[in-house]
Amino acid sequence: MAEEERDEKKFYDDAKKYWKDIPLTINGMLGGFGQISVTDINGSRAFLRPFLTIGGGSTGTKKAIDCGSGIGRITKRLLLPTFDSVDMVELTQDFLDGAEQHIGEDFKRVDKQFCCGLQDFTPEKGKYDVIWIQWVIGHLTDDHFVQFLQRCRDGLSENGIIVLKDNCSPEKVFDDTDSSYMRTREHTLELIVKSGLKLLNSQKQKGFPKAIYDVIMFALQ
Ligand code: SAH
Repeated sequence: MAEEERDEKKFYDDAKKYWKDIPLTINGMLGGFGQISVTDINGSRAFLRPFLTIGGGSTGTKKAIDCGSGIGRITKRLLLPTFDSVDMVELTQDFLDGAEQHIGEDFKRVDKQFCCGLQDFTPEKGKYDVIWIQWVIGHLTDDHFVQFLQRCRDGLSENGIIVLKDNCSPEKVFDDTDSSYMRTREHTLELIVKSGLKLLNSQKQKGFPKAIYDVIMFALQ
């Protein structure tokens, strides 16, 4: 195995190991920052709404997918209240297994659960009105990031959009606790351009504690 391949294998294996031991709670999903979840969801809802038919836009509300869903924090509070049905794709099987309990009643409108790394996942063609990718893209290498976005584009329904929401740091940082990268806003945009997707809008999440990095929402098509 070439050194580069070995490094890549370790990058993905280490992340898998980290998440395997994380409790099935909001706090676990957010690395101890559970208290920001409500602000996060409210910011996402406000950012998403103008794109949707119900908010005066052209994106439908039939089907969404939550990528790197964890136990379904976003599925429960953002996606299920808006979309007829939601799919989840997640690396850690235990999180998918915990989703029913976390989500409650509305879990019956969760359709498919895929246990899969995003680097290996291909959304079904033309299926999704919204593909939501939050706090997970740092777990992909640059090449996999670009290729995943390209596969997501093919997974969009007519007028469908992709929303990427993640931390952006002033410099590229590698976090060896969970084996992920934090990219700069410029680098993230560079990879988006490389994927061939168009940036429809971007916005910084407001109201988060000063101690955490900027969190940026990107709407793509
Ligand atoms: N997006 C959710 C969870 C964030 S925690 C939320 O905001 O609440 C990051 C999640 O990504 C974890 O559930 C972890 O298991 C998952 N993950 C890590 N690497 C991944 C990969 N390569 N592909 C898919 N999911 C991954």
